[in-house]
Amino acid sequence: KPRVLSGIQPTGGSYHLGNYLGAVRNWVGMQETHDAFYCVVDLHAITAGHDPKLLRERTRVSVAQLLAAGLDPARCTVFVQSHVPEHAQLGWVMSCITGFGEASRMTQFKDKSSKQGAERSSVGLFTYPILQAADILLYQADSVPVGEDQRQHLELTRDLAQRFNSQFGKTFTLPQPHIVKETAKILDLQDPSAKMSKSASTGNGLIELLEPAAKIAKKIKSAVTDTGRDIVFDPEAKAGVSNLLTIYSALSGRPIPELVEAYAGKGYGDLKKDLAEVVVEFVAPFQQRTQEYLDDPAQLDKLLVIGAEKARTVSVPTLATVYDKIGFLAPA
Ligand code: ATP
Ligand code: MG
Repeated sequence: KPRVLSGIQPTGGSYHLGNYLGAVRNWVGMQETHDAFYCVVDLHAITAGHDPKLLRERTRVSVAQLLAAGLDPARCTVFVQSHVPEHAQLGWVMSCITGFGEASRMTQFKDKSSKQGAERSSVGLFTYPILQAADILLYQADSVPVGEDQRQHLELTRDLAQRFNSQFGKTFTLPQPHIVKETAKILDLQDPSAKMSKSASTGNGLIELLEPAAKIAKKIKSAVTDTGRDIVFDPEAKAGVSNLLTIYSALSGRPIPELVEAYAGKGYGDLKKDLAEVVVEFVAPFQQRTQEYLDDPAQLDKLLVIGAEKARTVSVPTLATVYDKIGFLAPA
């Protein structure tokens, strides 16, 4: 079976619709067809400032949501990044073959540092795509299911893998991004020019899977739509309405043209009201399952011990090969 690796940050208390539709939902499907490794990337979650107590809590909440979404630890490997020390170790090696200019071209750093300025951003935020490359290469992943915002980081990962292979001999598999076009970029409901984001979206723009149903319904009803009144799918000219149609279609399984036809002659209000119902219907059982997992933290932690052990059956030998290839003297 081809290998797949992907990760999600335990930033924010809850996943949002973009995380689910752009990434996690595809992870669930791929656990059947792939040898799948999924991790909660806590090393990445400390790059932009964090609270230790919240991070610990959110890491468990993250894992619970992955299980609630349908990941089955019997069919895939679910683990926490910091439980597998090889991530940080390979991250250092990869940072030593990355050009400073190359790292400077990552647009996500520019976005994420724009608020406080590059000067005051951490070096960790700057180098996080290199650690992400290590996350992927450590497992020799063939495929990486992510949202559109990760495309550039996947290109960097491939460049670094190729560079390492040509300098030190064939070591890494070149991974392909697996980006499902339809749901690759779910937009902020209040600012359809930006992607929905755990750390950047605020208030009404963000639909969190764990927030109260009534709040979700209210946010959808106050989503920014576009001028005009027609419900048409046109992501360029009508980004707001098109985003709502994308979410509606992804959660209901009804193709977008069918929805457009069904809402012909109706208003934005009708669409939003029905979409709110569709989203609430999805999140209600999701929230219940997440809570059930959280009610038994000892069991969650046990699953994570097993997950880290499984992950290390791959990460340890990969790192050993890398250390050997780059000429580190093996401890006697
Ligand atoms: P942060 O703002 O802290 O970076 P995030 O919302 O971007 O959080 P991540 O944990 O960085 O979430 O990303 C997890 C996965 O979700 C990645 O594969 C990412 O591409 C995907 N993803 C994030 N936001 C969206 C979105 N709006 N639409 C589709 N996929 C998304
Ligand atoms: Mg992100």
